[in-house]
Amino acid sequence: MGVLFRDVLRWDREAPDGWTGPVDVRVAGPTIAAVGRPGERLQAAPGDRVVEAAGRRLLVPGLVNAHFHSPANHLKASVPSLPLELFMLFESPADPALTPSPREAYLRTLIGAVEMLQNGVTSVQDDAFLMPGPDPEIIDAVAQAYLDAGQRATLALDQPELTEAEKLPFVARLRADLGPRAGLLDQPAPVPAPQLLEAYDHLITRWHRAGDDRLRAAVSVSAPQRVSPDYFAALDDLATTHGLPLFAHLLETKPQRTLITEQPRFGGRSLVGWTHHLGLLRPHTNVIHAVWVDENDLALIADAGATIAHNPVSNLRLGSGVMPWRAVHRAGVPVALGTDEAICDDAVNLWPVVKTAGLVHNITGADPGDWPTPAEILDAVWTGGARAQRRAGELGAVEPGMLADLALLDLDRVAFTPFNDLREQLVHCEDGRDVVLTMVGGQVVAEHGRVTTVDQDAVLAEARELFARRRATVQQARRDAEELVPAYRRMVASAAATDVGFTRWVGR
Ligand SMILES: [Zn+2]
Repeated sequence: MGVLFRDVLRWDREAPDGWTGPVDVRVAGPTIAAVGRPGERLQAAPGDRVVEAAGRRLLVPGLVNAHFHSPANHLKASVPSLPLELFMLFESPADPALTPSPREAYLRTLIGAVEMLQNGVTSVQDDAFLMPGPDPEIIDAVAQAYLDAGQRATLALDQPELTEAEKLPFVARLRADLGPRAGLLDQPAPVPAPQLLEAYDHLITRWHRAGDDRLRAAVSVSAPQRVSPDYFAALDDLATTHGLPLFAHLLETKPQRTLITEQPRFGGRSLVGWTHHLGLLRPHTNVIHAVWVDENDLALIADAGATIAHNPVSNLRLGSGVMPWRAVHRAGVPVALGTDEAICDDAVNLWPVVKTAGLVHNITGADPGDWPTPAEILDAVWTGGARAQRRAGELGAVEPGMLADLALLDLDRVAFTPFNDLREQLVHCEDGRDVVLTMVGGQVVAEHGRVTTVDQDAVLAEARELFARRRATVQQARRDAEELVPAYRRMVASAAATDVGFTRWVGR
């Protein structure tokens, strides 16, 4: 049984206005079986559902959230805006009392999946940090949530492997400032590499290509400064063997830039240069953030054929800085867009990210030729998003043979009234509320703002109750973290005062 979209406008990146139609689009099984020519009637097969659009609805590829961490889904709006290095003290304190039950892991994953599907976000790359460690039953709960929700997900385990002292700059000063608590800088990471690799074995064996290939595994180093070269290389081998993306947060913040001089083990290289030096900057690498990159870093990323996952809302929320959009494009590096986690975007909705990406780079200078065009932004969502998942040619277009990951938008709503310029209106007017149907792999998963695959009201009600009971424990762990703030704040200030030859902060 398929779906026939009758008389829809179809997103077409090659068309002068970004759309063609009205046309009929027929979905059969997981793929788009046919796209009619204007005026051509496609026949519905017996049992097909027919969605009448009357030329007033637009079919676009489902949006791709290229960077996300589901374990913080229940923590939205719970931490004030802080620089990353301070923020991380509150994000996931290593407190055993915060160990989730499988049900909590399942429900928190579903909260995010529901929000994304309501808004037409059909694919997500979930760089899941599972504290204190990636237990198989927690991995199973996360994976099962995506399968039940019907969202396409690429799931990795974002686990650090080194000590705080090995990851941070200005460690001698930090150690002195922490005084009696300095020992935490040398505490080993909760889970050693061999155990992490066992967890990957479970993830890949049990879940890679599950649910008719809607679920795939990825690997994650979290960030190069957080793992040993051996563990990094082992994950890269897994990526090569199984055809997986590799996620690496790279140069998100200025303190990370200062590791060039502040961590001798990098031999005077930036983290991008270090990754390249290890031979681990590769076509399957998702370079997450790339805010504090310079031209040399961008040349290395371009040569590797890697993709940058750009998260402008997160970068603003944490004051990380503004990624050099035009320099990235001039270097020829493909870009995808992500929300980053709910605790630092707060809305797990890619549309505001699209709008922010379309706006924030305009404040970097007066030459509008350097600003992003709506076509570039939308290419990042669809073409870049498909590439980041290693699914170029399968996702990101409404064409025969592509996977039927689709969002149907109502053009009679305010955002498109009057209908002036589709690309501009998708970037600057749409916020997700006009998505009236979301489809993943040919299956309708949300309609008129409601997810159809799970009992949305029951899921949200249970999550509200369960996480309300957790609140006191979370708050206690955060009170403990407060004690570390003054020392970490001085570390961030030292980095901020360091001349690295350029800045990614604007507006001073
Ligand atoms: Zn992230």
